Amino acid sequence: MSEKLAMFTPKTCNLEGLGGGGEITWEMVAGALTGLNQEVYLYARLKFVQDDTCLGELKDLVYLNTINEAFWGGWKLSKNEDVETIGRLANMAIDESVNPLICKSCNGSGMINNKGECHVCKGIGEGREASIKRIQKRLKVTEHRATHFWRDKLRGLLSAHIGWDQDISEALKKLNNK
Ligand SMILES: [Zn+2]
Repeated sequence: MSEKLAMFTPKTCNLEGLGGGGEITWEMVAGALTGLNQEVYLYARLKFVQDDTCLGELKDLVYLNTINEAFWGGWKLSKNEDVETIGRLANMAIDESVNPLICKSCNGSGMINNKGECHVCKGIGEGREASIKRIQKRLKVTEHRATHFWRDKLRGLLSAHIGWDQDISEALKKLNNK
């Protein structure tokens, strides 16, 4: 994560220091983000500007795009699964990306007070990836399906969202060059 993006981490909306002391306003940030596609823009506003009003629209868009992906990708749903299952997957992916799990042991810092690297997350600061149980419960699918089908689909969406984070980071870099 770039330094600039780090300043936009959830729960800190501090713009101080951005742009090397120059005046940077939320309008300028919003302006830098408007070049992004709609999905990424809404995601950025939700995740980094904490604009919860974007959530509904973002979920709708991600839902539609995931349905599309399922259709073109020939996803084979089992008999108890349908578009609602895909909708639940889309929602789960957004929730996990916007509020990434952090390691509870070190609170996401990767370090334990003066004791060095956290042993639970090995210094990464991230919590564990969604368990099969969580996928199973959230999507209302069987354990077998969660393990052999839906976990991969969730990973696919989450890695796309990591790409969004990078796009946002790139867009915000432009603020520095003004
Ligand atoms: Zn840790």
